[in-house]
Amino acid sequence: MSPTATAVELKSCPLYIDGKPVISRGQKDIQYNPATGEAVAEIPRTTAEEISAAVESARKAFEHWSKTPVLQRCRVLFKYRQVLESNAQELISLITEENGKTLEESRGSFQRGIECIEFACGAPTLTMGDTVEQVGTGVDGWSVRIPIGVCVGITPFNFPFMVPLWMFPMAIACGNTFVLKPSDKVPRTAVRLVELAYEAGLPAGVLNLVHGAKDTVDRLLTDPRVKAVSFVGSSAVARYIYQTAANNSKRVQALGGAKNHSVVLPDAEMKSTVAAVMGSSFGCAGERCLATSVVVAVGEAGDPLVKELVRAADNLSVGAGCEAKTGMGPVITEEAKKRILSYIELGEKEGAVLARDGRKDAVTRGNGYFVGPTILDKVDPNSRVAKEEIFGPVLSVIRVRDIKEALEVIRNSEYGNAASVFTRSGGAAREFTQNVSAGMVGINVGVPAPVAFFPFAGWKNSFFGDLHALGKDAVHFYTEQRVVTCRWPD
Ligand code: NAD
Repeated sequence: MSPTATAVELKSCPLYIDGKPVISRGQKDIQYNPATGEAVAEIPRTTAEEISAAVESARKAFEHWSKTPVLQRCRVLFKYRQVLESNAQELISLITEENGKTLEESRGSFQRGIECIEFACGAPTLTMGDTVEQVGTGVDGWSVRIPIGVCVGITPFNFPFMVPLWMFPMAIACGNTFVLKPSDKVPRTAVRLVELAYEAGLPAGVLNLVHGAKDTVDRLLTDPRVKAVSFVGSSAVARYIYQTAANNSKRVQALGGAKNHSVVLPDAEMKSTVAAVMGSSFGCAGERCLATSVVVAVGEAGDPLVKELVRAADNLSVGAGCEAKTGMGPVITEEAKKRILSYIELGEKEGAVLARDGRKDAVTRGNGYFVGPTILDKVDPNSRVAKEEIFGPVLSVIRVRDIKEALEVIRNSEYGNAASVFTRSGGAAREFTQNVSAGMVGINVGVPAPVAFFPFAGWKNSFFGDLHALGKDAVHFYTEQRVVTCRWPD
């Protein structure tokens, strides 16, 4: 896949089973630093026996953890938050080293992850049931929320710290135990997340860690001891996870890919709009499920907007994420870089105007996996670059006449994760929010990421399931309901 291993000793990447690190006996893959192309670590493919041991460890731990008072469970999470904060610098550097994003972006995602733990610490009130006295003569009724058992989390490469924290803090706060299968491209942040959870006092077996890709996932999806599966990743895999987990009688939520639109109306405030679109399109090198990958420019907004976006992209400093001056880091792998470059070529073939060609930037000729910010203008709404998820720093601009046409472009997308509108008109913003076919919507906001106490998920092929990640949906996802109807003799 990339340059061969150097003489530098490769880091190892343990599993965590029953509260202890385990060096896997499975075959190893090499992890490369996206900014340098250097081999950095060996990532194991967990063996069938090891996966089974991780699930068994979670199953056993469930017996006592599910009976541990909720305040006690949350006390561990309060401590966990504090332990993570004490190791913030190291974790932020690790996110940047593994994933490539800038230190500022890693810091932002660190904070967003911490907020998920803070939200999960509210489990004592979040898991409260309802009571109605006298549902019949001398009869009372009440409901309780109880944990469901062993839960599995399968996470993508783009947020190595934050996305696992969408899942396991709430799952374990609700009394479940967990097996985490992080992305095989960025598993070392997950190792630290699990190590530090044990440092915070989590009892053995409550949180387990396995590595690998499809083979590992398939074993987890078919294991009868697993009761629920949370997935975040691309749509094709999300659909597969949803179908396979459901066929194996598991509760499942599967968040998929995206093709997000930002609609810019002629009355939008240009400076802040350009800054928001730049951050959304090229932040995290475009590898964000909420990234704007299509700007829909309405009427006369188009020409000045494209001119200002090109100017801002020219000034974006592309380089290693660990350098303070860097505004945009590399993409995740050599393979991802090739895929993104092939989309730029395709855009040209499909008749788009190459307003800025990121292939020409000097940084793209080094060993790291860099692609310069690229802007395709006058893109045909029916072309592949307009419709397919590119997941890199490539922004397509579609020109339309009015907001109705803009909404039609969004409606025709197979995805429905996020969409934003930029305008000074309350009426236009209202028309947009009431008619747009997307799950997360921004008004003059480039990355409309809901905070942890709101649900997080999209529509259409961006989400397979019923209960979203985070918010009260997460509490409902990670608990079963029991309703008691009670009569006492007088
Ligand atoms: P991916 O689908 O390739 O991988 C996600 C996870 O699934 C990883 O843990 C991976 O090891 C595993 N996996 C990969 N192929 C598999 C297969 N065939 N069967 C079973 N498991 C498999 O996604 P990625 O490239 O790591 O992440 C990028 C994608 O994630 C993008 O499409 C992005 O939009 C999406 N994403 C979505 C959200 C959201 O909230 N909807 C958030 C972040 C990322």
